[in-house]
Amino acid sequence: MFSQNIFDLSLYEYDKPQPSWWEKTADTTIDLKADPLSGDTTCDVAVIGGGYTGLSSAYHLAKDYNVDVRVFEAGHIGWGASGRNGGFCTMGGTQIPVHKLIKIFGLDETKRYYQAQAEAVELVENILETENIDAQKQGAGEMVVAEKQSHFENLQEECSFMREKLGIDCQMISQGEFAETHYDAPHQYGAMIQFPSFGLHPLRYCQGLAKAAEKHGAKLYSHSKILKWYKNGNKHILETAKGKVVADKVIVACNGFMPENLNSEISARILPLQSHIIVTRPLNEDELVAHRWVSQTPAINSRNVYHYYRMLPEKRLMIGGRADFKGTPEGAKQTASRLKQSIGELWPEWSHVDIEYDWRGLVCFTSKLRPSIGRMPQDLSIYFGFGYHGNGVNNATWTGRELAKWIATGNDKTNPLPNHLPKLVQGITPRFPLPGLRPYYAKAGVGWHQLKDKFNL
Ligand SMILES: Cc1cc2nc3c(=O)[nH]c(=O)nc-3n(C[C@H](O)[C@H](O)[C@H](O)COP(=O)(O)OP(=O)(O)OC[C@H]3O[C@@H](n4cnc5c(N)ncnc54)[C@H](O)[C@@H]3O)c2cc1C
Repeated sequence: MFSQNIFDLSLYEYDKPQPSWWEKTADTTIDLKADPLSGDTTCDVAVIGGGYTGLSSAYHLAKDYNVDVRVFEAGHIGWGASGRNGGFCTMGGTQIPVHKLIKIFGLDETKRYYQAQAEAVELVENILETENIDAQKQGAGEMVVAEKQSHFENLQEECSFMREKLGIDCQMISQGEFAETHYDAPHQYGAMIQFPSFGLHPLRYCQGLAKAAEKHGAKLYSHSKILKWYKNGNKHILETAKGKVVADKVIVACNGFMPENLNSEISARILPLQSHIIVTRPLNEDELVAHRWVSQTPAINSRNVYHYYRMLPEKRLMIGGRADFKGTPEGAKQTASRLKQSIGELWPEWSHVDIEYDWRGLVCFTSKLRPSIGRMPQDLSIYFGFGYHGNGVNNATWTGRELAKWIATGNDKTNPLPNHLPKLVQGITPRFPLPGLRPYYAKAGVGWHQLKDKFNL
C-alpha cells in the first residue's frame, strides 16, 4: 500500500531544515566534518540515522570501545525528530499505564524500567557536562498539571505509588502553591512533579553529541541517505547516491522516519505519528504577570491526548501536541491554528499572542506500546532501537549507549535479546497486522483517547 513513506512526502524533504525555533537558534560555533559519503568505504559498524539513537551509539562505540563506526544521515545531522522535539528530557517511553506494566512484567521488572528511565535522564545530563555542550538546560522536574479536581486526586494516588513502589522521586503541588510557584490559569488544579527531568535545546544537544562523537573518532556523513541495502556473504553493503559502505554490523536508528522500503521486517513494526509544535513571540512582563508565570519547568496537562509546554529562556511559550494522520501541508496549517486556539483556552490572557514558529515531525509507536531494542532474529548482525513513544531525548540516548555496550562487549553470539536491559524494552515488538493500515490504527487509537478525555472515562 505504501511505497517509500507512510505520510505525505512533505514530511520527508531531507534537504530542507525545519522552520523551527531550534534551527533559528542552533549553535553556529559547531562545525561538523559530516560531508556526504563519496566513493567506497568500510567499517565495523554502520549506523543508519543521525539522531540521538545513532549518534549516541557512535559516540559510545568510538569513545568507550574504540570501534570504527560510521553514521549515515539522510538530511543534516539532527534533521529528524532529534533536532526538532520539545526538549523535554524526562521519564516515559511507554504508553502502558503503570498498573498494567506490573501485571505484565511484575513489580521488580517495572521498577527496573523506571530506574533505567531515571538513569537515562542522568546520562544526558552527564554527556552535557562531560562534553561541555551548551544546550540551554532549563528547569528541574516534569509536571503533570491537573486539569480537573478529579485528575489531581488520581495523580495523588499515582504519585504515592511511584514513590513507594517504584522508588521514583515524585511530589504533589497543590493548586494554591502551583499558582505561586509556577503559573495561574483557569485549567490548573495543582500538579504532580517527577524527578529527575529538565528541559534543553534539542538541536544544540544533538549538535554537541555529534561533535563529541566525531572528536572520539566516529565518522559522520550528512545528506547520505541509504538507498539500497543488501548482503554479500556476511558483509552488509549499504549504498547512497554517491558511495557505498561495507560493514560487519548495522544499527538501524531511524525511529519514526524509518523508510518503508529499507527493511520491511523493521518498518512493519513501526507506527509513526505526527507531533506539532508552535512557539510564540517573546511575552512581555505584563503578559507574564497576567498568568503569574514564573515557571521554568517542562509540563504536560493531564489529558490522555495531552499538550506539552514550557516557557523557553527567551520568554517564548512553546506548546506541542498531536497532529493529523496524513501529514499534508494543509493539515499542518490546521494543526498550528488548533494549537494557537489551545493557548487561548489554557491561558486566556494570551489568546492574542502571535505565533512566530511552527513545525512538526514524527514520533514512533509500537504494537506493544513500549520501546524495542535488540537484534534481528533473522540476522544477528543487525541491531535496532526504536519506539520511544514521544520520549526519546533520554531513551534514545540511553538506547545508543546500551547498543554500543552490547556490540562491543556482548559475548553471546546467538541471543537476539539484550538480557542486560529491563524486559520491557527487550527484543523486536510484533508486526502490525496488515501494516498498510497503520495510519488507521493510529487514528482509531487517538480518537478513542479523545473520547475518554471528552467524557472523562
Ligand atoms: C515534534 C516532536 C516533539 C517531541 N518532543 C519530545 C520531547 O519533548 N521529549 C522527548 O523525549 N522526545 C520528544 N520527541 C521524540 C524524540 O524527538 C524522538 O524519540 C527521538 O529524537 C528519536 O531519536 P532517533 O535518533 O531514534 O530518531 P530521529 O531523531 O528521528 O532520527 C532518525 C534519522 O534517521 C534518518 N533516516 C531515515 N531513513 C534514512 C536512510 N535511509 N538513510 C539515512 N538516514 C535515514 C532520518 O533522516 C532521521 O534524521 C518529540 C518528537 C517530535 C517529532
